[in-house]
Amino acid sequence: MWKAWLIPGGLLLALSAALVNSSLLGRVAPSLAFYYFAVFAAGLVLAWRFNSSRVLFSLVVLLLAHRAVEFFSFGQTRTGPGRTAVLLVAVLIPLNSIALAFLRERGLTVAGIAPRFGLLFLQSVAVAVLCRPENAGAVSAPAARTALPLWALTGFAAATVVFVLRFFQTHKPVETGFLWSLAAIILWLEFAPVGKAADAYVATAGLILVASLIETSYLLAYHDELTGIRGRRAFNEALLSLDQQYAIAIVDIDHFKQFNDTYGHDTGDQVLRMVASRLADVGGGGQAFRCGGEEFAILFRNTSAKDAFERLDFLRRAIQTSVFGVRGSERRSEARGGDAERRKPGRKKTAALKSPPGELSVTVSIGVAEPSTRYRQPEQVIHAADQALYRAKHNGRNRVELATTATLQLTRKKRANASRL
Ligand code: GH3
Ligand code: MG
Ligand code: MG
Repeated sequence: MWKAWLIPGGLLLALSAALVNSSLLGRVAPSLAFYYFAVFAAGLVLAWRFNSSRVLFSLVVLLLAHRAVEFFSFGQTRTGPGRTAVLLVAVLIPLNSIALAFLRERGLTVAGIAPRFGLLFLQSVAVAVLCRPENAGAVSAPAARTALPLWALTGFAAATVVFVLRFFQTHKPVETGFLWSLAAIILWLEFAPVGKAADAYVATAGLILVASLIETSYLLAYHDELTGIRGRRAFNEALLSLDQQYAIAIVDIDHFKQFNDTYGHDTGDQVLRMVASRLADVGGGGQAFRCGGEEFAILFRNTSAKDAFERLDFLRRAIQTSVFGVRGSERRSEARGGDAERRKPGRKKTAALKSPPGELSVTVSIGVAEPSTRYRQPEQVIHAADQALYRAKHNGRNRVELATTATLQLTRKKRANASRL
């Protein structure tokens, strides 16, 4: 969990702060201009390609802010126009990042970006006017020991609260990216508003945003959107790095089609989320994946199928006993008349239908297998787990079945027969 907070933003900031405060800064100074240019050029292109107007505009805000401080400072940021520029930037950057966090991401369409550009233009004009030497006194505070007065930090504090809350909501690395990027901006304005160190801090603030954007899209590609747990691509990749001993479980929700038909697709989705979160907490080093539809896989590294079996049976019972509320209006049987036809007499009732109205629960069937001396390949182990799952369904559902060598041989015979045909 701590990794999600510190990587990549915290790491990048720590590295650049160490660099700025070491004697190395002088030596790398010639490449700093390239670093700066590369970060913003690549960052703007990537934000555009990833359709993230939020990161794109944050980079533009950062660039404009840095240019403004450089332009008005004349090497002096403790008094005069330079001081005014630093204070204005310290107020405007957090305000802009809060606004960008709340504006709905509409991608890079004209309707989406025009108002943002308009706002940036107005702010640029305001900064330019307020930083004119004859106006500069209006904003600037008396020269102080620290560059940023306490009141200027309140905006940063507010933005920090926003990003922390959003990270708890979305779990997306881009939120912690914004957090660390703000930290880099504070270091910039407080300790080195102009010069080489300023270039390093500003470029790092941009790099953190870009890195977290890439990290976010990586995360999205490997995680299932509905449930938030890892998806099939992650599962396939995990299969490549298995050791000798492992166990694979395939989990399938019982009578889920009927559940969907009765309570509607949205309630079905809610069940998938509930089941996924239970599976994610399986413990014993088990990693849960959503392989597609209402089928999940759990991978236990360095665990025998027998040990996994105990955990899985505990999990099965936990799912069976978890109930979750459903609003009456979501019950399709009441909202729509068409279900009478689906619930023909004689059709088996699902576990869900037996629960009292308003409280639903589901059950799962699980098949688990491990590699044996003759079946080493993960694909074969998955196949064996699938066969065990099939047996669990056949034997009455809501149960865990262990793959036996016998089933494996049986399926091999079946396959051999099939290939002979
Ligand atoms: P069994 O106990 O034999 O597994 O019965 P089942 O009804 O679960 O079997 P089946 O695999 O035929 O049904 C799977 C159903 O899962 C079909 C589809 O309606 C539902 N489903 C698949 N993906 C989703 C999804 O993303 N959301 C929702 N709500 N339902 C889904
Ligand atoms: Mg299924
Ligand atoms: Mg099913």
